[in-house]
Amino acid sequence: MHADIVVLPGDGIGPEIVAATLPVLQAVAARHGHEFRFTEHDIGGIAIDRHGVPLPDATLAAARTADAVLLGAVGGPKWSDPKAKVRPEQGLLAIRKALGLFANLRPVKPHAAALDASPIKPELLQDVDIVVVRELTGGIYFGDKTRSDTDATDLCRYSVAEVERVVRRAATLARTRRGHLTSVDKANVLETSRLWRDVTTRVMRDEFADVTLEHQLVDSMAMHLLSKPRAYDVIVTENMFGDILTDEASMLAGSLGLLASASLGEGKVGIYEPIHGSAPDIAGRGIANPYATILSAAMLLRHSLGLEAEAASIEAAVSAALDARVFTADLAPAGQAVDTTQAAQAVIDRLR
Ligand code: ATP
Ligand code: MG
Repeated sequence: MHADIVVLPGDGIGPEIVAATLPVLQAVAARHGHEFRFTEHDIGGIAIDRHGVPLPDATLAAARTADAVLLGAVGGPKWSDPKAKVRPEQGLLAIRKALGLFANLRPVKPHAAALDASPIKPELLQDVDIVVVRELTGGIYFGDKTRSDTDATDLCRYSVAEVERVVRRAATLARTRRGHLTSVDKANVLETSRLWRDVTTRVMRDEFADVTLEHQLVDSMAMHLLSKPRAYDVIVTENMFGDILTDEASMLAGSLGLLASASLGEGKVGIYEPIHGSAPDIAGRGIANPYATILSAAMLLRHSLGLEAEAASIEAAVSAALDARVFTADLAPAGQAVDTTQAAQAVIDRLR
């Protein structure tokens, strides 16, 4: 197949991990007879420097017509002045919103070779295989905000349609996995959560009778995620709860440098990016872990291009590289680490 992939390297280690990932996609394309065309555009801090805005029109226009978007990371100390009018992260929020990407999928599957890197006891991590689906374009992050000298408000709002679409997306995913969906809310206190729970219950009863549904309050979920992570398959939740729970869940996997994500909407186009940030502390040194970005590229093949076998081959190759203890500095003791390019090459060498 032919696919147009928009590439947004961004800031910090973004350009390094994206540059390491493109050859992996090229190698997969060559093996399976596909043709991927990569077009690079600016987003984040580099876009502010070059164009004065974090999301230039040309970047958004290219993303709208692409089959998929691969993103590195945005932000860094250069653009983090609290008084600054434009910030790199605004570019990311704006492109997700503009493309209608309402579901953020974050798989958490600790790899045996990396268990030592997690602060959680290894025996609790055996066979953990979770996907968190975070609602991405609604809730308190997007509601009206007010501020006076004496108080402040953030409005939390959800519509029935917003809950339905993300629950359907999560339940459809659960159906292809172990058939279990955990919906997280705070329905004992919040009206938006009571709506969330009612809509979820109805959608699951009417459309997904084959998927089991469990409701969890977010506070107890935060505890169970660390005490019995094996009990979960797909977790669906609203924007802010998902933000908090996915950072917590990342600790199950050992390193931020291993976790991929996909932001999806109703259409085929999605944005694929590692869950970590631009890591300014290690940028420019060629030592960043590229696996999270490479695994994000696998998600791109699966979700935007429908290339399941190719996606699985990348995941298997990353897994084999980890089995062979091809570790970057975030996973290996000093002196035993490979660099970004070597780690990516180890994945290419193990592709079938
Ligand atoms: P953001 O606000 O953009 O999410 P952050 O403050 O969460 O950023 P990160 O940029 O994710 O921070 O970095 C957190 C720590 O993890 C840093 O010490 C960074 O060097 C490290 N880190 C992040 N990504 C990687 C990676 N791919 N490889 C190695 N180390 C990484
Ligand atoms: Mg972060």
